[in-house]
Amino acid sequence: MHTDLVAALDIGGTKIAAALVDGDGRLLVRAQRSTPAREDGATVMGVVNAVLEELKASGDWSRVRAVGIGSAGPVDASNGTVSPVNVPGWRGFPLVAEVTKTTGPLRVVLVGDGVAMTAAEHWQGAARGHDNALCMVVSTGVGGGLVLNGRLHPGITGNAGHIGHISVDLDGDLCACGSHGCVERIASGPNIARRAVESGWRPGPDGDATAAAVAASAQAGDPLALSSFQRAAQALAAGIAATATLVELEVVVIGGGVAGAGETLFAPLREQLRRYATLSFATGVEVVPAQLAGDAGLVGAAAAAAEALGLWSARHAMPARTA
Ligand SMILES: [Zn+2]
Repeated sequence: MHTDLVAALDIGGTKIAAALVDGDGRLLVRAQRSTPAREDGATVMGVVNAVLEELKASGDWSRVRAVGIGSAGPVDASNGTVSPVNVPGWRGFPLVAEVTKTTGPLRVVLVGDGVAMTAAEHWQGAARGHDNALCMVVSTGVGGGLVLNGRLHPGITGNAGHIGHISVDLDGDLCACGSHGCVERIASGPNIARRAVESGWRPGPDGDATAAAVAASAQAGDPLALSSFQRAAQALAAGIAATATLVELEVVVIGGGVAGAGETLFAPLREQLRRYATLSFATGVEVVPAQLAGDAGLVGAAAAAAEALGLWSARHAMPARTA
């Protein structure tokens, strides 16, 4: 039997998804459950096993060559453990060993969700054809991953590209990570909303005080809402400029709910980037929206495994831009 598929797992604080992914990035079979995030570790693992069993029940399981896992972080790919912030039952949880009990002798590759999203955008999305890219998710948190010299760069433990926890405000607010003034502490959705409310912005009659509501107000010209997005854009720009200066980026891809604000975020971000990315080799970096939406985690988990294990041909794994 020709083994040409990767079984992908995407594990987050709200959902656990799985799919069989082929060498063109198509999802052939899929399964998804809610994450019982407040339950004990064994219960959460039971849900992972349930979605894997759904895949195994399909006729295509015999074509599976490897397993790719993208998990909310922190992860430790070097010893196969995960400690997702939003899943307290999993601390140093031996996810790779547990998955292997269900999947048998297949090779398993674990990466953080930011790295998985990056693999997906490099393979099929907005970073395709670029050899040096930073891909970011700006949502409840701020995550990311790097492509360097044409290859995914997961780092030793699978966490490289954690741009959300670069400090851009030296004496800034304490971040959940323990540092101060992190990009995430300023630019994540909840922090955009918090800053707006603290500055006097008030939600409309529906009471919606999320970053999406702040974005809608900003689009309607509300100066307090605009100012909160401006500050988020400034933090993102400083973090991107630092990264571009360190490793020379061609493109920065931004996805996640906050990126859904479109030009409300991207316009001030490009403007702020001109303030911070000033050296000749950093000024050319392009900032574009992500192209893969809900399936990026699954496609990326498969892509990361395929690249790490050399499963698909170079043409399939990382196609060059043809047009
Ligand atoms: Zn932090």
